[in-house]
Amino acid sequence: MDDLRFGTRDERGYWSPRARLAIPPYWAWPPRFIDALKWLPKYLFPWNAYFMATALAYWYFVIPDFEVMKTLSWGWALRLYAVNAAAVFVTYGAVELVYYARRKQGTRFKYNARFPSDHPSSVFWFKSQNIDNFLRTFLSGISMWTAVEVLMLYAFANGYAPWLGWADHPLYLAVLVFVAPAIHEVHFFLIHRLIHTPFLYKWVHQVHHHSVNPSPWSSLSMHPVEAFLYHAVALWHLVIPSNPLIALFQLHIAGFGALNGHFGFDKLEITEGRALDGEAFSHYLHHKYFTVNYGGDGLIPLDKWFGSWHDGGPEAEAAMRERSRRKRDRSKPERRSAAGAA
Ligand SMILES: [Zn+2]
Ligand SMILES: [Zn+2]
Repeated sequence: MDDLRFGTRDERGYWSPRARLAIPPYWAWPPRFIDALKWLPKYLFPWNAYFMATALAYWYFVIPDFEVMKTLSWGWALRLYAVNAAAVFVTYGAVELVYYARRKQGTRFKYNARFPSDHPSSVFWFKSQNIDNFLRTFLSGISMWTAVEVLMLYAFANGYAPWLGWADHPLYLAVLVFVAPAIHEVHFFLIHRLIHTPFLYKWVHQVHHHSVNPSPWSSLSMHPVEAFLYHAVALWHLVIPSNPLIALFQLHIAGFGALNGHFGFDKLEITEGRALDGEAFSHYLHHKYFTVNYGGDGLIPLDKWFGSWHDGGPEAEAAMRERSRRKRDRSKPERRSAAGAA
């Protein structure tokens, strides 16, 4: 496919989609009912349906009997870690293999024309973004994913959380499934803003931001504190009346869904004329600029409400630079008076 039909590449090799990022049409005023209806299938397929399919596969084939999970033990916890690790290795690894190792698509639709493996950097373990991100994914990312999973299942098994049955509360639980991606968005925005505060950024989040040009293994390459907070979105289902299957779905939106923000391509080509939309642009801009798009795609448009939304266009770029300039100006008198006091 010709990516220049869909976007532009500047002289430094950065590709941007021509269409600006837009928040979902149900936020429009006056209401755009037809657009909101058209948006619905894209909301469900393929990504949220895929996260639900993985949750169901775990529910039927992976999660131990709840009787077993009444007691904490290394046996079932390590088994869950092994399955999570294998699932990530296969799914994230497949994208890495096809689009980054074999480079089947070249740089078509790739936001940054460079491939991390061609550019060693001393900020990474072994000077390699790939090795660093891969190791952190399995040491930290998936360990914390599993820790949250164990905690959540143990709480349900012991009756510490309000567990509603599908037969008694089908409508309420269906609505909860439907809004789970919005819960993810709000939780992610809040913990993400928190770890961008100076102290936590320096000691926790910086590790993730080393990957300015993210690739699949960057997705879960996090400091353990960030990895725990990120996956802890599933623990909301211990507070609100819910069901462990929905908690698992919530966990998979985080665990399997992290790939969406990081694979670095706007579209993954399937055939000559068909491509899968990646929905990676919003978070790619966050990795590129640090101070925009703390949330996701604007399901709940918190970035818009708090003034940190970047839709990829020149106006948003100018507004971001103006915010940075004003922030610098604000901190200057403080620096001067601190110097004077010294
Ligand atoms: Zn990221
Ligand atoms: Zn960040």
